[in-house]
Amino acid sequence: MLPTAVNTQQTAPATPDQTYEILSQVLEQSVDAALLIDQDSRIVLFNQAAESLWGKPRQSVLGQSLETVLPCPMPHAQEAAGALEHSGCPDRMAGNRRNLAIRRAGGDTCMVSVSVSRIGTSGDSYFTVFVRDITHQQAQQQRMRELSLVVDKSDNAIFVSAPDRSVVYVNRGFSRMFGYGLEDMQGRTPAQVLSGPHTEPNLNERVDAALAACESLQAEVLLYAKSGRPLWVSAAINPVQDEHGHLVGLVSVLTDITHTKMHQVMHQKVLNAVVRDASMADVMTLICREVEHIAPEVVASIVAVEPDGRLRPLAAPGLPPAMREQIANTCIGPNAGSSGATAWRGKPLLVADIATDPVCADYRHLLLPHGLQASWTNPIKSSNGRVLGTMTFYYREPRGPDELHARLIDTCLHLCALAMEREHANERVHQLAFYDTLTGLPNRIMFSAKAEQALANAGQMNAPAAVLFIDLDRFKLINDAQGHAAGDGLLRDIALRLGEEMAGINIIGRQAGDEFVAVLPHCSAEQAGSMAERLLSAIALPTTVGLMTLHPSASIGVAMYPDDGRDIELLVRHADMAMYRAKGEGGGSFRFFSGDMNKVAQERVSLETALRDALRLQQLQLEYQPQVRGGQGTRIYGVEALLRWQHPELGAIPPARFIPVAEESGLISELSIWVLRQACAQMAHWRKRGVNVPRVSVNISAINFRDPDLSALIARTLDAHGLVPDDLTLEITESVMLDPDPDVLDNIEAIYAMGVRLSLDDFGTGYSSLSHLHRLPIYELKLDQSFVRDIDTSAIARTLTTSVLRIGESLGMKVVAEGVETASQHRFLAEQGCPVLQGFLFSESLSAPALEQWLLQNEFACASDGPEAQPSAEPARSGRTGKRRGAGAAATAPAELD
Ligand code: C2E
Ligand code: MG
Ligand code: MG
Repeated sequence: MLPTAVNTQQTAPATPDQTYEILSQVLEQSVDAALLIDQDSRIVLFNQAAESLWGKPRQSVLGQSLETVLPCPMPHAQEAAGALEHSGCPDRMAGNRRNLAIRRAGGDTCMVSVSVSRIGTSGDSYFTVFVRDITHQQAQQQRMRELSLVVDKSDNAIFVSAPDRSVVYVNRGFSRMFGYGLEDMQGRTPAQVLSGPHTEPNLNERVDAALAACESLQAEVLLYAKSGRPLWVSAAINPVQDEHGHLVGLVSVLTDITHTKMHQVMHQKVLNAVVRDASMADVMTLICREVEHIAPEVVASIVAVEPDGRLRPLAAPGLPPAMREQIANTCIGPNAGSSGATAWRGKPLLVADIATDPVCADYRHLLLPHGLQASWTNPIKSSNGRVLGTMTFYYREPRGPDELHARLIDTCLHLCALAMEREHANERVHQLAFYDTLTGLPNRIMFSAKAEQALANAGQMNAPAAVLFIDLDRFKLINDAQGHAAGDGLLRDIALRLGEEMAGINIIGRQAGDEFVAVLPHCSAEQAGSMAERLLSAIALPTTVGLMTLHPSASIGVAMYPDDGRDIELLVRHADMAMYRAKGEGGGSFRFFSGDMNKVAQERVSLETALRDALRLQQLQLEYQPQVRGGQGTRIYGVEALLRWQHPELGAIPPARFIPVAEESGLISELSIWVLRQACAQMAHWRKRGVNVPRVSVNISAINFRDPDLSALIARTLDAHGLVPDDLTLEITESVMLDPDPDVLDNIEAIYAMGVRLSLDDFGTGYSSLSHLHRLPIYELKLDQSFVRDIDTSAIARTLTTSVLRIGESLGMKVVAEGVETASQHRFLAEQGCPVLQGFLFSESLSAPALEQWLLQNEFACASDGPEAQPSAEPARSGRTGKRRGAGAAATAPAELD
């Protein structure tokens, strides 16, 4: 008998037939294969699921032994049940299963899970055997086992979460990466555990959006490990759906990209700041803060090393401020703290214990109370290996760097060097653009900018200010005579002296060449005057340049703000005018600007314009001043051509006024050529008509000697007028002799070789040294009129005059005394044997016709002394080659006067 089924749903007990029917239906509809076995192990029921499991119709197995379908060693149902009991099955509840392999009709085997239950009745025993196909499930489990192994081996963090995002599984890689195990994560969302101060706040929304679209999400996210260390991960979050498309979970794979990301983020942030021209301190602070974000266990600091070896703290946001001061006073050295010692060694330095390491002796009292116990310092080096600074990682426990720190420092050192080198380059560009390379003083641009600022301040405070224009006297001569290196040395020296005298709030700049300018804020006229005097004394101290001792002097002009001008440009211009006045008055002094100077300057400009017009309109003439031979009987020696300018409105303008303007404006080249041609034309005219003028002297400016074409031009001019070199003398000043320009010397040599005489004008007023005189082919010396003027009154003037005459004699040079005005001067010069005289005593300069008259009146016209006798001693290197062409003929056969 089958046992009575207990049906709690039924209200009235069922009949045995009904019960049998219900039970058969239940077994028939079971999802698992169900078999009913009698006590002889014969199959009495074989349901539909069993038919499809074994692939056999029930007719073929009913009544057969269980063995025909279950090849397990279960010959009898009791044994089977016994075996189950024996295998530890405590009762007959579902789930007490045993897995077996069965052979199906097609010959293939599959794994099944078998559970056998005894249906005990009073007499017979029946057994139900439920068999479930677990082939697929087992394969899946195997796969899961293998997968788990693989997943655990992975370096990636992998976790599985339920649709509500709570974590249900984490692999070992996850625990390694974040320090959290499943027990920390289970039931919590990753966002709850892994988010931190800088995690993207809308990450959840992004995940939601991706899931809503049933898509995977790839994102780079900043998460935080259990230790607090931030980790950049590349996250792939994949939704898992069932066959109906319902979300059953999420599988997320996280890859640590901290190193790449750190490098990338730091580069981006720091380079951005550098490009934005953020200050050095800001860039370095940014680097320190980034380091501290990435590695919260680190306190970072960056220090620069100055060229003189001093340390300059740049950034240490996490260090006590006192530390900064202590570092700032340190020079690099083997025991100068971790930064100083690292810079000194040029190699990384690990101080594993600040408390005991002697390197940190001066710092530990600051570091230890701050909880900092170890440090790791690396030198920041330039591309050429120079130590620019150091970067230190401080630790709160005695330890050394880990792999992340090593990577971090690599990135940081590179960025620090880049920022520092860029700053140096900027400084250098700034220095070149705004400072004078020779003296290091602000150049014109920088000076103006600073000065404008100072004047604006003065304006706001209603305070006066002074502008000084300082110009060295005779600098050009020093530069020319001693060479540019000496000149540069002098300028540097003067710049230093000015800096010392005007230290403090004053602004000093180099304007150009030997010109310096200064603004003295809050300075009255009296104070400006005494400052100018101090400057003059400071400048006047002797200075040694090379082997020479120089006694420099300067001229200073002072313009006052606001009386003489309100902007720096005007004030400098006015101070320049005042300086010019001081220079005109002999130099070595200072002058305040005054309104009339402005007039002078304006006149200068209008004079230049007028002179250009004069050249064009032929308002210029030449006059000739006779030069007579000394000794018995007065004979004509030559004439000096002197420029005269009769301006239609301004009247006669003396050369002393317009020649400097012509020299400054460059007009002198044209002017000299005009004079040369005019004088030669006149000579040729006189020659042609037999007027007795032995030679003409022409004044040639120093500037003309720099023209490489000068000697050729002279040769062409002589040639054009049928003159010979002997007919012409060129008067040059001492500055020509001292000019180092090679063209000048070439011209001198060529002119000498041609046979044109050179005369040294205004001799005795300049710097000429006798050695120069000896070396250059000078034919005559013109004793300056200042000596002649004082002959009657000054014994010194007489002595100097005599000396010049003796020098001339011994060097074989003819001496021409200029400015002879009185008979007594003439007498003295005659007694001393002066060979040639020129001056008002004989004649002023005369127009050509007037000169001819003068010659006639003084009976020179026909009393030609013929070809001139050579001076008593032949000039050292004369040896002239020029031959006078037709001069003698003209002299002996005077042509008709026009
Ligand atoms: P310098 O070459 O020394 O010319 C002599 C100057 O002394 C002339 O002045 C002349 O008129 C003046 N003088 C002559 N005898 C006496 C005298 O007994 N007493 C006084 N007090 N002065 C006398 P000037 O013509 O005014 O020329 C001045 C300077 O201008 C010249 O000095 C020369 O350096 C320059 N100069 C004149 N003409 C030219 C020229 O054509 N070219 C260049 N480059 N410079 C010229
Ligand atoms: Mg002259
Ligand atoms: Mg002269």
